[in-house]
Amino acid sequence: MNKTIKNLFSFPYNSNLIFQFTEKFLNKTSGGYILSFHEVSPEIFESHVKSLAPSKPIPLEEMTQRYRLGKSIKDCFAITFDDGVRNTVLRNWEVCQKNNWPVTFYLPTNYINGDNLPYQKIQLIEKMLNNKFYTLPQIDNKNSNKISKKKLIGELYKMIYVSNKSKVNLYLNHFIKEIVDYEKVKKNMPEAISWNEIREVSKNQLSSFQSHSASHTAVSALSEEEIKNEMVESKDAIEECTGKKVSSFCYPYGAAKSINRLSIELASKYFDSATTLIRGRLKKSDLYYLPRIDFYEENKTSLVRLKVALS
Ligand SMILES: [Zn+2]
Repeated sequence: MNKTIKNLFSFPYNSNLIFQFTEKFLNKTSGGYILSFHEVSPEIFESHVKSLAPSKPIPLEEMTQRYRLGKSIKDCFAITFDDGVRNTVLRNWEVCQKNNWPVTFYLPTNYINGDNLPYQKIQLIEKMLNNKFYTLPQIDNKNSNKISKKKLIGELYKMIYVSNKSKVNLYLNHFIKEIVDYEKVKKNMPEAISWNEIREVSKNQLSSFQSHSASHTAVSALSEEEIKNEMVESKDAIEECTGKKVSSFCYPYGAAKSINRLSIELASKYFDSATTLIRGRLKKSDLYYLPRIDFYEENKTSLVRLKVALS
């Protein structure tokens, strides 16, 4: 469904009564839920969260704790932000402080250390690469045909959801090398929040910084040793910076194909919970395969409510 149709379809959810009635009617309110935001402006973020009243935000740790103990999470939700983009974190953190909303920021630590995220590199390639035909690097002897730039970008996005670090780096670096002004445009890639800023924000009890791996690679493509390193390295770095326990892991990309049984087992060894991007509420969910409800900049508040009502 395209955006306009989705937004139109959700029009009745502008009404508080219809929203609350549908939630009750579908017997959904007993299952709390976790919101997932990426890059979103503070105005939109604030309107999305406020549209969910009378449900209110509680800390993610409290949500998972109550869920684990079988206590009620009725009319509660937790707010999470993925990826640690500086502007997104700092500007939305102001909104959370103003409203007294607890919030969790999931950080991929290599990005904080200066290496941009794979999808940010694809965005750069999309922006800067000439509009020609290209061949994918030949590592698995597949598809040696020349493809259009548009098709190439689609292939790169598909690839990062399921591929290991060496393949992701090989493919992305191959095309980044084609961009002559790379160093100049690198400055245009979204900047990560710094360790100093994380330390400052973390002093406030409303905030929480948790692990989103080190390199933001799909864990389903990694070996046991590599997954373990991704988890432990990022957990240790964040704990060292904030002086607080890191107890939750967020699977990079969060799709079913990006997560496997082994990564779920390992997450249960190092964390108290782990979250995906598979939509749903906390009802009969595995603590290490928790669903979330994702909201985006272009979603009207009526669509936000529709997603929640149907999840
Ligand atoms: Zn992410």
